[in-house]
Amino acid sequence: MITTADRQDQYTVSVCRHERVAIDRLCAEIDGRRVALISDHTVARLHARRLADTLADSGLEVTATAFPAGEANKSLTTATSLLDWLAGTALARRDVVLAVGGGVVIDTVGWVASAYMRGVPYINVPTTLLAHVDAALGGKVAVDHATAKNLIGAFYQPKAVVSNVGYLRTLEPRQLRAGLAEVIKKGMIASPELFEFIERRHATILAGDPATLARLVHGASVVKTSLVAKDPYELDLRRPLNFGHTIGHAVETVTGYGPVLHGEAVGFGMACAARIAERRGLLDRRTRARLTNLLAAVGLPVVLDDLPVWLDVTAALGALRQIRKIRDGVLRFVLPVAFGETVIADDVTEAEIRDSITTGAVGYGRLRTG
Ligand code: NAD
Repeated sequence: MITTADRQDQYTVSVCRHERVAIDRLCAEIDGRRVALISDHTVARLHARRLADTLADSGLEVTATAFPAGEANKSLTTATSLLDWLAGTALARRDVVLAVGGGVVIDTVGWVASAYMRGVPYINVPTTLLAHVDAALGGKVAVDHATAKNLIGAFYQPKAVVSNVGYLRTLEPRQLRAGLAEVIKKGMIASPELFEFIERRHATILAGDPATLARLVHGASVVKTSLVAKDPYELDLRRPLNFGHTIGHAVETVTGYGPVLHGEAVGFGMACAARIAERRGLLDRRTRARLTNLLAAVGLPVVLDDLPVWLDVTAALGALRQIRKIRDGVLRFVLPVAFGETVIADDVTEAEIRDSITTGAVGYGRLRTG
């Protein structure tokens, strides 16, 4: 006898630009339950302590903790200490964990929430642009392992996402630009309107205008949630959201996760993939130029010399060979063919990749590329 079990995940994504509105949304989602608020030390100092106090002033029972900021702390060690901390609180099965921070906090806390008591509800309160437009949405939660990033994780959807773009006013401009890379990507693969919006408004976005940021985050959230809804467990490996991530991943791997921010690596990866697409006759020159011009206009790397650190191209190609090996000999490239349209190519050669990475690099002659 066979039976089927069904499940559905649905949650609200609120994009706010006034703190009071964000607090009201949060209180509505928390619905009187106890709150365990977790952030990193930087976010705690800038925003999370005040948020905890405001929630407590609204009559909620709030307990809060924080861990040191940075990718190095997206670890099992941090997760274990957070589980220990939760076990010492009065948090019960239907109470709420609040993840307040960038992608590191959101990924780590989401995974802890998925494990604690076989899963407690959690709400994402993103504070970096990358977290607003990407990490807070989609329910991919994980911590890193010494052998690989995001190795220990799960799919565990949040109860809600409450974005307050006001938090972005304290973010370093470089982090804002890196977050913007993921929005440009979404515009390129799925929303010409979003792409044009960034073309028109990038100066206002980088200046931190709250109304423009709220429109940007809303537009990006709509694209991400609709793409994720089609394949919430990533069963299809041919995902347009991976645009820029193949070469981007190699750049992050060989530079040791940190010197090149994720968004910067993705920006460079998109520029390279667009060059491959143009050379294959898939993408016209004008569209490729609009993408690279926009990336450059917001301060993202488009050629090798733009990267914040020296890249060993041979090592990057080696990293891609390694990925190909892990993925049953297939390296999938998302190649843009027009605004809102991509194809997946699994026959991109090493020569094409090398060419796309080194094109336009004035200093290429002095680089050691093996
Ligand atoms: P991050 O969380 O490390 O934040 C960057 C820095 O900014 C940190 O030092 C943090 O303390 C600080 N910060 C956060 N908010 C701030 C604010 N408002 N003002 C000032 N400083 C602030 O980095 P990130 O770029 O947000 O996230 C990167 C992580 O996200 C990676 O681990 C990546 O794997 C993950 N990620 C996950 C998904 C997903 O779908 N789950 C998607 C993309 C990225």
